Amino acid sequence: MNQFSKNLSKIISDDVQRHRLQFKLVSITLAIVSIVMTIMNFFTNKGFLTIATLAFSVLCIVNYLLTIGNNKKLFDVANVLFVLELMAIFVFFIISGNPEGFSAIWICMLPSCGMLMFGRKKTTILSSIMLIILLFFFQTKTGQSFLMYNYTESFRMRFPVLFVSAFCISFVLETIYFYTHQELIQTRANLQEMYMHDYLTGALNRHGLNEIYEQTKPGKEQSVMMIDLDHFKMINDTYGHSVGDTVLKAVVQKINEMISQPLCRWGGEEFVVWFPEESIPDSLAENIRCAVKELPIVDEKGNTLNVTISIGIARGSDQDDMHDLIDIADEHLYKAKASGRDCVVS
Ligand code: GH3
Ligand code: MG
Ligand code: MG
Repeated sequence: MNQFSKNLSKIISDDVQRHRLQFKLVSITLAIVSIVMTIMNFFTNKGFLTIATLAFSVLCIVNYLLTIGNNKKLFDVANVLFVLELMAIFVFFIISGNPEGFSAIWICMLPSCGMLMFGRKKTTILSSIMLIILLFFFQTKTGQSFLMYNYTESFRMRFPVLFVSAFCISFVLETIYFYTHQELIQTRANLQEMYMHDYLTGALNRHGLNEIYEQTKPGKEQSVMMIDLDHFKMINDTYGHSVGDTVLKAVVQKINEMISQPLCRWGGEEFVVWFPEESIPDSLAENIRCAVKELPIVDEKGNTLNVTISIGIARGSDQDDMHDLIDIADEHLYKAKASGRDCVVS
């Protein structure tokens, strides 16, 4: 994934950030469209309308500029400003009612713009207020006295219905988007979990450790601990594979309780812990070795299992590569196995 897609997926995975991005996009789109409309109105001699679209395009640009720095306060100001602008242009369109009927198309676009910019809740409130205003101008005597354009009876009756339909469609689309989006976030979290963790023990897998390695800058001192269960094959052969699984889970849980860094399942019954900022003492490894040895693991028949581990430790500086330290820890682990197992070599 390139940097742009990474940034984009980060933005759209957060609803607030998504609306902020959409706010920017809609502001700039409306600004461009209004500028084009202004030019067209200018050359077709629509004096008052030219001023209105020009004012709207300037305000859209101001809105956009307010959102550039990602400042929360300025974004709130832009939100309030935009609601006022929408309301103003909405009322202007109703009262002036330009003869070609373009205002109707513009008004029907407002709920969709609102959904993109403010989300469902605020847009529902905003659209309800707009509907009330619309009904006031179209259906009451007082409202009609403000109108500068002579709408037909049929238009005044049907247009509010059209507006409600436009709102409903944008509401449904935003709702579908919202839930699809939630689903996507959940699926991605699950995939990330699967990608980085071992299913049986919940420990990190190699991908997981690598991901952490890529995101962490080692301190002046760093160290690696490599842990391997002793004669694990024999446990499997004697007690069965499922008991072997239980042992693995119990050992991982115990070790996790004792270390500050995540445990990584390097392979079958072999684990690695990377300490990016400390040179761990032998005593920590000794404590882990003893704790595992004392684990009360019993099989279905009540037999107590003797589980022991061997540990290899490697220490280095910020100049060292974690993978080189793992190789050294592996050599030390090999020595621990050679010298009788159930011990620590550093
Ligand atoms: P050593 O003391 O030299 O490490 O001997 P060992 O028997 O532990 O090592 P070996 O590499 O000979 O055997 C490892 C065994 O671990 C073999 C494999 O069946 C078992 N194993 C690997 N992954 C799993 C697992 O997920 N569950 C179970 N139950 N066993 C596993
Ligand atoms: Mg082993
Ligand atoms: Mg092994």
